[in-house]
Amino acid sequence: MLVFKFGGASVKDAAGIANLALIVKKHAAEPLLIVVSAMGKTTNALEDLTRAYVNQQDNVHQLYDGIKQYHYQVLHELFDDAHPVFDEVANTFVEIDWMLEDEPHDSYDFIYDQIVSIGELLSSRIVNAYLVHAGQLSRWLDVRGYIHTDNNYREGLVDWNKTCASIQKDLPALLENSIIVTQGFLGGTSENFTTTLGREGSDYTASIFAACLNAQSVTTWKDVPGILNADPKLFTDTVKFDELSYTEAIEMTYYGASVIHPKTIKPLYNAGIPLLVKSFNDPDAAGTKISQTGKTHFDKAVIIIKQNQVLLSVSAKDYSFVSESQMSQIYSLFAKNHVKINVLQTSALSLSVCIDWVEERFEKLLLELRENFNVKYNNRLSLITLRHYQYSLLKELVEGKIVLLEQTSRNTAQVVVAG
Ligand code: ASP
Ligand code: MG
Repeated sequence: MLVFKFGGASVKDAAGIANLALIVKKHAAEPLLIVVSAMGKTTNALEDLTRAYVNQQDNVHQLYDGIKQYHYQVLHELFDDAHPVFDEVANTFVEIDWMLEDEPHDSYDFIYDQIVSIGELLSSRIVNAYLVHAGQLSRWLDVRGYIHTDNNYREGLVDWNKTCASIQKDLPALLENSIIVTQGFLGGTSENFTTTLGREGSDYTASIFAACLNAQSVTTWKDVPGILNADPKLFTDTVKFDELSYTEAIEMTYYGASVIHPKTIKPLYNAGIPLLVKSFNDPDAAGTKISQTGKTHFDKAVIIIKQNQVLLSVSAKDYSFVSESQMSQIYSLFAKNHVKINVLQTSALSLSVCIDWVEERFEKLLLELRENFNVKYNNRLSLITLRHYQYSLLKELVEGKIVLLEQTSRNTAQVVVAG
């Protein structure tokens, strides 16, 4: 069986969904599970809605209406008014209507997951209805009954045993009769609350299903021809990799290459399932194949740029060395606040840490760190990571910028820069 993942860009409008159906048609002879992301930039819009709701801003309804209109416009382009998908979509919106009417009581992360998850619930309803409309035997599946997570909202930890047991119990029989369309990015807790797996988590969803069902391959359909050595939005002379090893792909995602979610590779690696990254605009082209035997040597450096970074420097209040026990105290505050460390450097008197700027988490972390330490920080920075680099390229990339931190090893160079 095959697993296909369609990202937000591939289903951003009616033409995209029609194109998806054409791609699916070419593979209709094989058992196929389709994982879809929210349409276009819906997840960002739902994040804005969540923030506005929690802060009780007066634009909550305006933001919510924008999201509704976008989805209804696509629906009207794809279906007649009488089509039952209109009711399915309306019922999906009802899932959060009641919440938005009430004042926020629960934790931010819990509310976030209940609201943001409707993006995938909507897109999967629409895609499934369209496939049926286009003549496929297709069935919508609520992923929350299959991907079981703990209640670590916004970063649900998957219970693999329970998840695989649920998937293996029901899906092989269902896949014999029809295509399955389900939601990426979502999971469910044992109390039936919705969780999310972390931004861009739909790739991970596809990999979970593939591993549990021992799929032949996973294909993620994107708006780029495959995995490139750098972001084509930032660089003009990019090259595509025809193949990559699992290890190199894991390294790239670890450093922030946003082309695949970082948790995606490990399950595939363990099960020996290849991951294909292909363009939905050119579905017959080969794309990039990630597998055990893929390439590990490079003549062109891989460039990964993470924006919106903060560099924190933490030191003892009494001007003493940062001891091992203080370091572990600092580390546990990062862990507790779910803040991931992208680069770390220690000196005699301080610990410097580069992290992603996530407002709600950062403020809390800062407050807790400041109880026992002095903390200084710079924000609006970028973290540039080069794999298989040459010094000349490193120099070129930081030219005219202020370098706040630099770390190099044999294969990898990382610099935190301003400007
Ligand atoms: N829709 C989610 C996001 O944009 C998940 C995904 O696209 O993979 O983060
Ligand atoms: Mg997305």
